[in-house]
Amino acid sequence: MKSTLHAISNSLGVEIPEATIENFQANFKGKLIFRDDKDYDTSRLVWNKMIDKYPALIAQCTGVADIISAVNFARENNMSVSVRGGGHNVAGNAVGDGVLTIDLSNMRSVRVDPVRKTANVQGGATWLDVDHETQAFGLACPGGVVSETGVAGLTLGGGLSWMRRKVGMSIDNLIGADVVLANGNFVHASENENADLFWALRGGGGNFGIVSNFEFKLTDLGPNVFFTACMYPRKEAEKVLSYWVNYTKNAPDNITSDCILWAVPEHPNFPEELHNHKVIVVAGMYAGKPEEGERMMQPLREIATPLLDMSNVYPYKMIQQMFDPFLEKQKLNSFWKCIYLDELNDQLQMRVIKRAAEVQNPQSLISIRNLQGAISRVGSEETAFGDRSARFLLSIDTMWLNDADNERNINWTRDFFNEMQGFSQGKVYFNFNSDMSSPSDILKDSFGNNFQRLSAVKAKYDPNNFFNLNANIKPVK
Ligand SMILES: Cc1cc2nc3c(=O)[nH]c(=O)nc-3n(C[C@H](O)[C@H](O)[C@H](O)COP(=O)(O)OP(=O)(O)OC[C@H]3O[C@@H](n4cnc5c(N)ncnc54)[C@H](O)[C@@H]3O)c2cc1C
Repeated sequence: MKSTLHAISNSLGVEIPEATIENFQANFKGKLIFRDDKDYDTSRLVWNKMIDKYPALIAQCTGVADIISAVNFARENNMSVSVRGGGHNVAGNAVGDGVLTIDLSNMRSVRVDPVRKTANVQGGATWLDVDHETQAFGLACPGGVVSETGVAGLTLGGGLSWMRRKVGMSIDNLIGADVVLANGNFVHASENENADLFWALRGGGGNFGIVSNFEFKLTDLGPNVFFTACMYPRKEAEKVLSYWVNYTKNAPDNITSDCILWAVPEHPNFPEELHNHKVIVVAGMYAGKPEEGERMMQPLREIATPLLDMSNVYPYKMIQQMFDPFLEKQKLNSFWKCIYLDELNDQLQMRVIKRAAEVQNPQSLISIRNLQGAISRVGSEETAFGDRSARFLLSIDTMWLNDADNERNINWTRDFFNEMQGFSQGKVYFNFNSDMSSPSDILKDSFGNNFQRLSAVKAKYDPNNFFNLNANIKPVK
């Protein structure tokens, strides 16, 4: 059913004629949602509860033709755009005030070719959609660890999964992409076609166009794998973190693990008497035979006496949904920052533990992800992503319930991040980044030698910076 048309203004504050909107609607098969429509308020909400943006119009696309119509309508009428995949970006880039939100959340089909071991995934799919289809064939694509996260945003920014050390990031498993450009043209990007665009899409974010389809190569995995989830009391933090840092030095690529400073969630999955107890968690997956994984990861379960050890053989699909209940859409105000660290020596470990002790919200996570393995075997200039040498990614995922605590939590997160910057080369992972403010030039530091080339690719494919609600790379010829 078509919506009733309402007046909308462009980015210059000029009202767009009703006939123009009518013409757009006639060329649009999906749904146009205006401010007065009853589903407007639910459609503008993204994962982070703190994001409260009011788009002028939301265009829920059903396919490539709708995306082209929406891009052309916005460009011809001077409207700014935001692009929505899974809506999980913590900075809220999927929506914006007064923009046309091009929403792909109804484009979620996944088609697996079990012979070639590839999958075609539409631009609005979530990782749940991908895992569901691929696991039917005993295959997997490296994606997010929360099932509702969008494939699009996660992949374009890199993509860190529970199998990252075995097969690299999501971008390292991307074979090709269909893209609608700012001029409304539809192109394919791969190693052999528009190779510069394909290079830029792998780490350069949503800067270059709207990806309507991703083609991934898949890996044999599952249905069952071994997962370590061992919660130690926080008083053991020093011992556990130090042991884990050493363990990761020689861990095989099949083991991908994180060390997380957290609190036991108030959730029926956990004994009530432990709720909100501060813990340090060692979590990780073995991407291989479960019995091998159990043996190899046993030391991670014996660092001290655990408060709770949920390590076991699980269906891979279950692991991919394990964190869902604690990170539900619209539940938590969230401000995240992160930084790559080459090393995590004793001094730095102590600083992280000290900062974690200051955390007042049990929902917050301070996660340290072990990297390298297959990630670092791809050269820093092979994809736009840039340097891949870091051993760890520290992410400060501050999350809280009460709006009155917003400022305090944002300031604390920035403060912690600024302290950590001194121990890093300044590269951040844009997928876990709430803001672009920092003492240094975060884009240049993060993309390094690739920054200039990215600006040139941007100038070729999006010379007027039409796609700018992202970690924005300005076009430079
Ligand atoms: C609970 C949670 C868990 C997470 N877990 C992981 C994880 O395990 N690993 C990891 O690497 N990251 C993870 N992330 C971070 C995640 O990668 C980013 O938030 C990512 O931006 C989400 O993608 P999305 O499509 O859901 O986002 P959206 O908010 O929809 O979009 C994010 C950005 O991508 C652009 N974009 C979206 N769709 C398209 C498209 N089709 N074409 C072009 N541009 C597009 C948008 O314009 C925007 O700039 C997690 C985030 C959350 C909130």
